[in-house]
Amino acid sequence: MPAATSRSRIAAEVDFDRNGRQHGFLRLFHSVHRSAYGFIPIPIVVLKNGDGPTALLVSGTHGDEYEGQVALCNLVRSLDPARISGRVIILPAANFPAALAGTRTSPIDEGNLNRLFPGDPDGSVTEQIAYHIEHELVPMADLICDLHSGGSSLMYVPSALFGGWQRDGGTAAGVAVLKAFGSPVAYVAESNQGGARTLSGGAARQGRICLGTEAGGSGHVTQSALRMVERGVNNVLVHMGILPAGSRIAPDGPTRFLEVGGPDYFVYAPENGLFEPLVELGDMVRAGQPAARIHLPETPWAEPVTTHFARDGFVLCKRVPGRTVRGDCLFHLGTDIGL
Ligand SMILES: [Zn+2]
Repeated sequence: MPAATSRSRIAAEVDFDRNGRQHGFLRLFHSVHRSAYGFIPIPIVVLKNGDGPTALLVSGTHGDEYEGQVALCNLVRSLDPARISGRVIILPAANFPAALAGTRTSPIDEGNLNRLFPGDPDGSVTEQIAYHIEHELVPMADLICDLHSGGSSLMYVPSALFGGWQRDGGTAAGVAVLKAFGSPVAYVAESNQGGARTLSGGAARQGRICLGTEAGGSGHVTQSALRMVERGVNNVLVHMGILPAGSRIAPDGPTRFLEVGGPDYFVYAPENGLFEPLVELGDMVRAGQPAARIHLPETPWAEPVTTHFARDGFVLCKRVPGRTVRGDCLFHLGTDIGL
């Protein structure tokens, strides 16, 4: 049931308290020229079997990140509610207009869902989605999986992450979920790029654990990244006791844990031009090492501008498009950490 204090204008077609499998839509009423009283149909699936913990699985927060969307489409059809104890709520296309368009932000209001939490029940379409997720769905969940990737402009070494990490051990339960996920690479960060404006920030406000992924990117899907997400989500459901222990899928090997820290982990384009990367994903680099050259095709006789890494680290993320403007993120690093 919706919280009594919620002012969300979005209406769910599913009954979150009913056992079995249900699918339907979150109705986001949107009055436009071609449809005065219509709604935007955001697909949602609820699987429930008796009492037990609740997992909320979200993808399509950014519409051009496809690995999580494909993984959750597969899960929606394959997960038998008779196999679970508790409840799984699946929202495969959270920013539905963006997911339909295959874009990071919504074509309706330019909203970046993961920069609009805690949302606004009376706000734009994307603000209404954020509000509904934080104030209606998150409170029902014990744990949230927020499945992202690098999207159109970035490529990651496929990884899981736990944001809002506390170095003093205060977030051990979140780190335990990260370990349960079992990806080859995983990282922690004390603050995410979007901070409190993300779903992860919203989960923290509601006292819930939120595990994320950066499952690849480049606006496409690979089988290896997809398998990482599917195995990880499965293993998180086992970790929560929603799936039986015998359902755990063993990782291919140990997880390499990294930390992503402050501004010196990031490299940005110093100039407008063409991006020539000088390292590749997975490389180990040193402080002062050249990271990229930005070429100036309008004046090709001019020397390219070289930018450098500010610290040692592992190349975790790399920009995809060649055409680049000053301020674009070209790389970010992670540094090995024991967890
Ligand atoms: Zn994303």
